[in-house]
Amino acid sequence: MLHKIINSAKSRLGDRLLILGHHYQYDEVLAHADLVGDSFQLSRLAAERSAGGSCDYIIFCGVHFMAETADILANSPSNLERRGGRRVEVILPDLYAGCSMADMADYESVLSCWEQLSAIIDIDEVIPVTYVNSSAELKAFCGERGGIACTSGNARAVFEWALSQRRRILFFPDQHLGRNTAVKMGIPMKEIIEWRREEARLGGNNAETIKASRILLWDGFCCVHQRFLSGHIDEIKNVIPNVRIIVHPECRNELVMRADEVGSTAYILKRITESPAGSAWAVGTEGKFVDRIAKQNLDKTIVNLSFQPSYCSTMGLITLQKLADMFNPIETGEPKNIIRVNENIAKNALIALQKMLEKN
Ligand code: SF4
Repeated sequence: MLHKIINSAKSRLGDRLLILGHHYQYDEVLAHADLVGDSFQLSRLAAERSAGGSCDYIIFCGVHFMAETADILANSPSNLERRGGRRVEVILPDLYAGCSMADMADYESVLSCWEQLSAIIDIDEVIPVTYVNSSAELKAFCGERGGIACTSGNARAVFEWALSQRRRILFFPDQHLGRNTAVKMGIPMKEIIEWRREEARLGGNNAETIKASRILLWDGFCCVHQRFLSGHIDEIKNVIPNVRIIVHPECRNELVMRADEVGSTAYILKRITESPAGSAWAVGTEGKFVDRIAKQNLDKTIVNLSFQPSYCSTMGLITLQKLADMFNPIETGEPKNIIRVNENIAKNALIALQKMLEKN
């Protein structure tokens, strides 16, 4: 019944509506998405598909920061000009669909960190870099200070660019993506330090350690990816000896160092899809996504790296019912659950996002 309601509303709305779906959504929700991808792909698609033409609404089946990013890109000054000033409204089917990692870095705490750093080092030597999994305010923080945003797919290219601009990176909110990227680049561990948000002073560091650092990592993490442990590799290899281990860079460094391959959601999907029949993979990332690639690749053995798979509960807040509930308000001209970023924040966040989109 819900599928029927959605399908008929979609055909009535035609090109006026674009539904974007993140890989971590339920299958039944993704069945209605016009485009499916990871954060990076969806950011790019939101910018491109809404550039001109007749799109009035994007329903974003994902989490809050993704809908904010879509709003900023879809309603950039150049896109607005192309559409004669007409906005594209971005809709999130459940306003509680947030990201616990993004919530671990708030603007005030990052600003306080920046001010504390300014007191002991030359702040012009520090470039702020934010993972795209962050609030629009933090993207604006970076945009205003010559910084940039990154995704799990282009973090290395972004870090290389950032270190060509300035001596140090302050990276938030995901410590694991930051550490994994820096280690891959050959930056010694002693130059990679953690800024612990609960500590009252200097993130629990002393001035000398900060002066010697190249990479300062906010201590946020993804509760889904951090659950994978190095011991899971031993457990799975006992059961499937020839299995290849592939993990997301939001996982812990000790796990990443032992994995056969590391990459973004898009990379994992491509790598497994293109692998020969008969191959065996243990995947360290979100459970709904792993279940789906297993169903789509029945000629291969694909299992979750942990016997207790990790599901992102906030991604799971977007249900078929909530998606269906968005259509009547759109068709009666009173769309609900609109995500609209403050104009000034959007302007500065766009600077960081556009730089991110240029780096592959
Ligand atoms: S999987 Fe982790 S990083 Fe992604 S939305 Fe869920 S909590 Fe946030």
